Amino acid sequence: MNAATIPEQPLPTWRRAVLKVGSNLLAADGGGLTPRHAEALAAFIAASHAQGRQVVLVSSGAVAAGRALLRERLPNGGDLAARQALAALGQAPVIELWRRLAERPVAQVLLTHDDVRNRRRYLNARATLRELLALDALAVVNENDTVAVDELKLGDNDNLGAIVAALVEADLLLIASDIDALYTADPRRDASATPIASVAEVTPAILAMAGGSGSAVGTGGMRTKLKAASKAASAGIPTALFDGRNADTVRLLGEGRLRGTLFQAGTSRLQARKYWLRHAPAAPGAIRVDAGATRALAGGHASLLPGGILDAEGEFHRGDVVEITDADGRPVARGLVQYGMAEVRRLAGRHSREITGVLGYSYGSEVVHRDDLVTLIEGEPENGT
Ligand code: GLU
Repeated sequence: MNAATIPEQPLPTWRRAVLKVGSNLLAADGGGLTPRHAEALAAFIAASHAQGRQVVLVSSGAVAAGRALLRERLPNGGDLAARQALAALGQAPVIELWRRLAERPVAQVLLTHDDVRNRRRYLNARATLRELLALDALAVVNENDTVAVDELKLGDNDNLGAIVAALVEADLLLIASDIDALYTADPRRDASATPIASVAEVTPAILAMAGGSGSAVGTGGMRTKLKAASKAASAGIPTALFDGRNADTVRLLGEGRLRGTLFQAGTSRLQARKYWLRHAPAAPGAIRVDAGATRALAGGHASLLPGGILDAEGEFHRGDVVEITDADGRPVARGLVQYGMAEVRRLAGRHSREITGVLGYSYGSEVVHRDDLVTLIEGEPENGT
């Protein structure tokens, strides 16, 4: 395909991005991993970092690398257990590849379906990734194929990329692929297929353009990319799809130019999150807060600390969305709690620095972090809070 025909456009401004790199960019034909395309991508990550931006990597390639290691002995590693063994074998080379190329310490993060569905594990995964970002480490995420069971698999790393983007509250999902854009039809079969610069929404008509899986090594295809873009969009995150084999395209990304397809978000990340917090089913119970905390929460910028809490009731757990009321029981806010009901009761009125002393452990000084709060009192400015 002629790169000149691929539309070029400004990349949305971003500060934190998830970069998903597919197996076929990392695995040489039937062989082990090769840094051929990873080098330019690593340079992009380093340059972004130097500009004060953060990148979380979602890297495939474990099964392909494992298969290459065992080619002689395992000619058709098709069943799930064999694939899982291959993934376990190949994960070390995946990390080694990025470790060689990255200028920062590399952290391996393996996630399963359970980790993102289970509220407590979700919060822990999020906290760890946030911490890794704060430590300036490069998190290299993959599915924990070793323990995933078929029906509970996250499935493909495009999907994982969208999940991680929402998890770390990224501004952008970057999908480095072996295809340079979304086309109106399959460009390998249809000469009249033309690349699409921008997609406002992944509609059934857009999905129909994708066909099935396009690659021999990864599990994804254009369809999984569109689904990932759609998932990211519903979390308020735009997705950029580009040809990760083209070093020029990757270099342009570093200059804020996208040669590929941009999937728009439709809503802002913050609005998507506030919408979710406002409408997610609340757990039974409530946290009652004093007048000072009520005022602070009404302002829309404060976290809920233990000191402002009067008491708690009901049956909520860490990771639930819980209603917060004023002293008279009038709703003030809703938020995703870091502590369960029994813990909040014990922490009520205490200073944040007493948390470890009271509970014997701490999930952080906030009972509800301000990013996880939506104010219900009328007059709250909706945007930018
Ligand atoms: N987790 C798989 C691997 O590392 C890849 C899944 C995918 O390609 O989407 O090999």
